[in-house]
Amino acid sequence: MSDQAFYSSLQQKLATLKDEGLFKPERVLASRQGAEVVAQDGRTLINMCANNYLGLSGDVETQKAAAAALEKYGYGLSSVRFICGTQTVHKELESALSNFLGTEDTILYAAAFDANGGVFEPLFDENDAIISDALNHASIIDGVRLCKAARYRYANNDMADLEKQLVAATEAGKRHKIIVTDGVFSMDGTIAQLDKIVELAEKYGALTMIDESHASGFMGATGRGTHEHCGVIGKIDIITGTLGKALGGAMGGFTSGKKEVIETLRQKSRPYLFSNTLAPMIAGASLAVLERISKSTELRDRLHENTAYFRKEIERIGFTIKPGTHPVVPVMLFEAPVAQKFASRMFELGVLLSGFFYPVVPMGQARVRVQLSAAHTREQLDTVLKAFEQAGKELGIIQNN
Ligand SMILES: *Cc1c(COP(=O)(O)O)cnc(C)c1O
Repeated sequence: MSDQAFYSSLQQKLATLKDEGLFKPERVLASRQGAEVVAQDGRTLINMCANNYLGLSGDVETQKAAAAALEKYGYGLSSVRFICGTQTVHKELESALSNFLGTEDTILYAAAFDANGGVFEPLFDENDAIISDALNHASIIDGVRLCKAARYRYANNDMADLEKQLVAATEAGKRHKIIVTDGVFSMDGTIAQLDKIVELAEKYGALTMIDESHASGFMGATGRGTHEHCGVIGKIDIITGTLGKALGGAMGGFTSGKKEVIETLRQKSRPYLFSNTLAPMIAGASLAVLERISKSTELRDRLHENTAYFRKEIERIGFTIKPGTHPVVPVMLFEAPVAQKFASRMFELGVLLSGFFYPVVPMGQARVRVQLSAAHTREQLDTVLKAFEQAGKELGIIQNN
């Protein structure tokens, strides 16, 4: 406590963040997660900014599955997996995930952040090349930094640039090359062109890896993910993902792929070796979620119906969105102050939304990001659309007619 200058410099930096409008306050909920949430002040809000795609976060069936696992396996393990922290429920979940994703084996982590943080360093070294999309998630960027492989970056979703990087890595004489991409990019709802990526990987003898955090459970005809959506099941080498979004929403992550890859990670991956095991109630609930969505596509279908409806109606009202089919719907407001004002007006009108502006998205591309859920009712969506219309007219974003 003797270096006062340290604390003053932090205070100054925090003040600057606030001045620049970049400070992120926490929104405190007084209820469970869901299509409707209760704010700390007691107001009920329609929630349009959770990653709760299948509506399972506050869902009672999910909760009951967690309670059953809690009852059977207890609260926790006080151990990493390999010492005495593996229960039958963990093995069952790993096997269910492999079945669901169409892979040979799966390893669980406490978070997808850890899965991505611990996947590169055990598998690749300075002789290898990692070719990564420029908009990949922070956890992929950090994971790549922890590894000695040469780094190549390609412009977001740009297949010509990807090929250029593959050529460069090949000419540099790299031993193994791996192309890494988010299956879906969360700021734009852009879906990676996995069919083309697989083709390029075959042409240049490269491996492929996708992060399915915004896809597992609802992309593709049976919700298996972007690889199903793009028709390349069985052709992706490594799949990482989260249990903290569509697949239940508590926490937890995984890496899935060929047996020898997963076995290597169990021996060498640091977030797996040196961090506590996933709580058994989360493993149990995740198993129940996988079973539920494997039996029926009802939740997935409802999510996509809601998405199609919202995308059509918001454009009809006169807003500009990024085109697409994903439940992430960026409603473009372009200027940062407009996006800020809009989000706070929507909050007053009872809709919880998040605004994004530079540096999170490019300059001049400020937006509010809407995320649809299977839990939203048509009535709730209509209420949200009315609020959009009202706030849009008040702020002169759309025309009165
Ligand atoms: C949310 C997210 C993660 C992190 O997931 P956690 O399980 O919450 O750590 C990783 N990658 C992508 C693409 C994500 O969207």
